[in-house]
Amino acid sequence: MIMTYRAIEATRPGTLNLVQRPLPEPGPGQVRLRVEACGVCHSDAATVEGGFPGISYPRVPGHEVVGRIDALGSGVQGWAVGQRVGVGFLAGSCGYCEFCRNGDLVNCKNQEYSGIHHDGGYAEVMLAKASGLVSIPDDLRSVDAAPLLCAGLTTFGALRNAPAKSGDLVAVFGIGGLGHLAVQYARHMGFEVAAISRGGDTAQLAKKLGAHHCIDSAASDPAAALQALGGAKVIVVTASGGKTIAETFKGLRPGGVSINLGAGPEPIQVASVDLIFGERKVAGSLTGNPATADATLRFSALGGVSAMIETVPLEEAPAAYAKMMAGKARFRMVLVTKNGNGQPK
Ligand SMILES: [Zn+2]
Ligand SMILES: [Zn+2]
Repeated sequence: MIMTYRAIEATRPGTLNLVQRPLPEPGPGQVRLRVEACGVCHSDAATVEGGFPGISYPRVPGHEVVGRIDALGSGVQGWAVGQRVGVGFLAGSCGYCEFCRNGDLVNCKNQEYSGIHHDGGYAEVMLAKASGLVSIPDDLRSVDAAPLLCAGLTTFGALRNAPAKSGDLVAVFGIGGLGHLAVQYARHMGFEVAAISRGGDTAQLAKKLGAHHCIDSAASDPAAALQALGGAKVIVVTASGGKTIAETFKGLRPGGVSINLGAGPEPIQVASVDLIFGERKVAGSLTGNPATADATLRFSALGGVSAMIETVPLEEAPAAYAKMMAGKARFRMVLVTKNGNGQPK
């Protein structure tokens, strides 16, 4: 067995380096993965740029990881060596805190984040907590499964837990890494789907992905456009920035909810009368628990929902990350290691 592996680490804020590391042994409750693919997500910036408080360097980013288990730590049950598994942003619940005991694994008080509190998937090998693992359906390639573990789970989970019923109008704001998946999920879940984006150039794509309506927020007032369609029951806002919420909020029908998925420091300004009269809500949604991730992958495989991806060898991670940060990825960059059998078709 080769006793070292290659990883791309943020050595200090702003610097990604290819390094060789000794092979680690999984601790209690952990598994060791031979990583096959890892998606590049905008949240990786929290690691690479040092935006996350208390992060210690060097740190390997990456939280859309698919790999094969090659060693089990003590006490791991229900997972086997050779099994293909995924790791998302939430690294695994503790099982004993108040929220875990109440079945709310997402809000576990002792949850760590992959690639932030410990090393993530920009590597050939990763240690992962068994309680955070996701099973990968056999008919999903590793490169296709990877972006679904964060971008997919986040949008699928938000829509799945939203109050909309089949036939209701659901809007997706922002047709990027998250939005292009949200449109597909919304369509496959049986909603009437409106895609909102700035500039008309993504309209054709949004239609192809399943949107019934396309709204150009640069050319028209998106809230008025949604009201003209009867008002949205749910608006999934994938673009970050408080303004994007405010811009569309009046497009909600009474009882509707605007679900924010794009994290940013900007405050959200909504007039209280728009909240009260019509009983509208502003909400956030944080990825999902491992069972919801399982469902995301199965639903995607069954329905043919997939992210548009560009694969790059692991060693080119710095360039892939830079392309994603520049907003030039169409739509998800996926790193592939030499373990990966998920080469593009
Ligand atoms: Zn992510
Ligand atoms: Zn917990």
